[in-house]
Amino acid sequence: MSDLRELYQQVILDHHKKPRNFRALPEPCRNVEGYNPLCGDKVRVYVKLDNDIVREVSFQGSGCAISTASASLMTDSLKGKSLAEAEALFREFHDLITGKSDQAHAEERFGKLAVFAGVREFPVRVKCASLPWHTFRAALAGAEKPVSTE
Ligand code: ZN
Repeated sequence: MSDLRELYQQVILDHHKKPRNFRALPEPCRNVEGYNPLCGDKVRVYVKLDNDIVREVSFQGSGCAISTASASLMTDSLKGKSLAEAEALFREFHDLITGKSDQAHAEERFGKLAVFAGVREFPVRVKCASLPWHTFRAALAGAEKPVSTE
């Protein structure tokens, strides 16, 4: 288990140092800012849809390692998904990080997103990990005002 934790730490640090899809998308696209006041994380998520397919998704912002790595891995995971698939993934991911689902097979189901299963032990960190996802959903819903985890 400690080897696994170490591996997870490495994945999170790697995505924190070299976030993927860290850029704005050209207009027109949906975008909104999310804020986690508990930790100070700020993230703006950009989404470009092609009918009901997530064609592009990117982010910018500043936050802790967990929130940045979560945004980075989220953008990698959502690209090419249908809106229904994206919503299902959000719900399953949320259950994983809040401890509502078993983490035994998390890696098979979630791939690298499974690295966040450990945040369930740290309620403050759950908000860091879920912030990009809530922001993504708000962008899809057409929100214009910043969204907050509180
Ligand atoms: Zn944070």
